[in-house]
Amino acid sequence: MQHSSIHWFRKGLRLHDNPALLAAATDCCRLHPLFILDPSSSRVGANAWRFLLDALRDLDGRLREMGSRLFVVRGCPEEVFPRLFHAWGTTLLTFEVDTEPSARQRDTAVAKLAAQHGVEVVREVSHTLYDTERILALNDGKAPLTYKRLQSLLASLGPPEKPAPALMQEHLRGCCTPCQVSHDIDYGVPTLEELGQDPTKVGPHLYPGGETAALARLDVHMERTAWVCGFKKPETEPSSLSPSTTVLSPYLKFGCLSVRTFWWRLDEVYQGRKHSQPPVSLHGQLLWREFFYTAGASIPNFDRMVGNPVCLQVDWDDNPQHLHAWREGQTGYPFIDAIMTQLRSEGWIHHLARHAVACFLTRGDLWVSWEEGLKVFEELLLDADWSLNAGNWLWLSGSAFFHRYFHVYSPITFGKKTDRDGAYIRKYLPILKDFPAEYIYEPWKAPRSVQERAGCLVGTHYPWPIVEHRAASERNMGRMKAARAQRGTKREPPAGPSAAKSQRKKPKVEQR
Ligand SMILES: Cc1cc2nc3c(=O)[nH]c(=O)nc-3n(C[C@H](O)[C@H](O)[C@H](O)COP(=O)(O)OP(=O)(O)OC[C@H]3O[C@@H](n4cnc5c(N)ncnc54)[C@H](O)[C@@H]3O)c2cc1C
Repeated sequence: MQHSSIHWFRKGLRLHDNPALLAAATDCCRLHPLFILDPSSSRVGANAWRFLLDALRDLDGRLREMGSRLFVVRGCPEEVFPRLFHAWGTTLLTFEVDTEPSARQRDTAVAKLAAQHGVEVVREVSHTLYDTERILALNDGKAPLTYKRLQSLLASLGPPEKPAPALMQEHLRGCCTPCQVSHDIDYGVPTLEELGQDPTKVGPHLYPGGETAALARLDVHMERTAWVCGFKKPETEPSSLSPSTTVLSPYLKFGCLSVRTFWWRLDEVYQGRKHSQPPVSLHGQLLWREFFYTAGASIPNFDRMVGNPVCLQVDWDDNPQHLHAWREGQTGYPFIDAIMTQLRSEGWIHHLARHAVACFLTRGDLWVSWEEGLKVFEELLLDADWSLNAGNWLWLSGSAFFHRYFHVYSPITFGKKTDRDGAYIRKYLPILKDFPAEYIYEPWKAPRSVQERAGCLVGTHYPWPIVEHRAASERNMGRMKAARAQRGTKREPPAGPSAAKSQRKKPKVEQR
C-alpha cells in the first residue's frame, strides 16, 4: 500500500540522518513535511526564535530543492492533528523520539489520536547517540548517576549506530507534496514580528540557524585535525574573543546537526592519530550530552528541586533583586557581568563561563536557587535544552552529580587565569574598557583618580559589588555543608575558611 505520510519535524530539523523522515518517504505517494509552531509552549527569547525560524527556512529550502515543501502550522498538536489527518487523508505519521517527559506525554496523546484516525505511527531514535530506553534497561530502569557508569553500560552496547542516509530526490520518486499557490501564506515560515517578537531585541547574527549552516560549521571544525585530536575541554578558554569550542550546541539542540553524524565524523578524524579521550575529548562531550539525556528521561522532576530524588534539598534565598542584577549583568563583578552580557546579546557562552555564572548565582555568592538560573538560561541560550540545562544546573549548584561544593569559582581570579588583561571584559562591558589591567576585575579597588581617568566611577557608571565574595562564599559553604548534613551525607569534607583559602590560590577546573 502506498502511504499518505506526514513527517512531523520537532527537533531533528534536518534531512541527513533522519530515519523517521526516510520512513515517511518509503512507499509513499503523498508526503507532508510538517512543523507545528506552538508559540505558547515555552520561555524562548528573541535570539532563539530567530535561530528556529532560520532553521525552518533552511529546511523548507532544502525540501524545495527536492520538489517538496515544509508546512508550518500554528497551534497545539493535539488540536492540529485530527484536522490535518482528515484534510490530507493521512495513513502514516512519523517522528523522531523525544525523551523529554512533556514531549513524551504529548507524543503519547498524538499517537492515541492517530490510532483513533486509523493512522499508523513510526518513531525513530536519532536525537541521541543511543536509545536511552536501552541504556536504562541495562541499568535496571535507572539512570546511571556517574559518567563512568554510563561508559561501562555503553561499552556493552558497542559504538553508536551509523547515521542513516540523507533524504535524496530518489527517495521521493513517485511521491508528491501537494502544494497550492497560496502555500507561503497558508503554511510559510512566519517572521519574528508575526510571532510577537521584537526584532530590535535580537543581537548580532553570529550563529545562523539551519542544517546548511550546521554542516558547514562541522566541516570547518573537522578540517582542524590537530585541534580535534588535541581537544581537552578544561584547557579551552571561557573568555576567548572568538569561541574556543565548536559552538555546535544550538545545531545539536534543534537537531540541525545529527549527533551521530558528529560522532562518526570525529571518529574519521581520530583514525590512525593519537587523540584525547573522554571525558575531556569531543567524543567525551557528546557522552556528557548522552549522560544528561539519560538522566532527564528517567529521573522524576529532573528540572526541579522538590520531588527530584537526586537533588539536594536546599533552603535557597528568595532575592529578586540579586536575581535581576545577575541576569542583567549588574553584579559589580566585571567577569560575571561580561559573561551575562555576552549571553543576552549573542545567545551562547563558553562552558566554563556557564560554570562561573551558575556557581556565582547559587552556592558561590548569591544563594539563589538554580531553578531561577535555569529559567534565565532557557530564555537566553540558543542551545537551551531541557535535559542538558537542568543536568548542568544541578551539577554546578552542587545539588546533584557534583559534590565538591567547597570548590567555588572566584569571580575575580578565575577569569584572570586565561585573560589577565581583561580583553573579554573590555569587549562586553565597554564602560570599563579604559581601566588599567590591574583593576579590570576589581574596579572598586581603583583609586578615584584612576576611575576618573577611565571615565567610569564605581557606584555611578558601574555598580559596587553586590556581595563581598570572600565572606559570601564562606557563609554559603557552611550552608551547603548543613544542607548535606541534613540529608545524612556521611564524612563531610572540610568547609569554611581553610577550604576557601586553598581554592582562592588555585581555581580548580572540573575535568569535563
Ligand atoms: C549551567 C549550565 C547550563 C548548561 N545548559 C546547556 C543547555 O541548555 N544546552 C546545551 O547544549 N548545553 C548546556 N550546557 C553544557 C555546555 O556548556 C554546552 O553544551 C557547551 O558549552 C556548548 O558549546 P559547544 O557546542 O562549543 O561545546 P563543545 O565543547 O564543542 O562540545 C560539543 C557538544 O557536546 C555537548 N556538550 C558539551 N558539554 C556538555 C555538557 N557539560 N553537558 C551536556 N552536553 C555537553 C554539546 O552538545 C556540545 O555542543 C550547560 C552548562 C552549564 C554549566
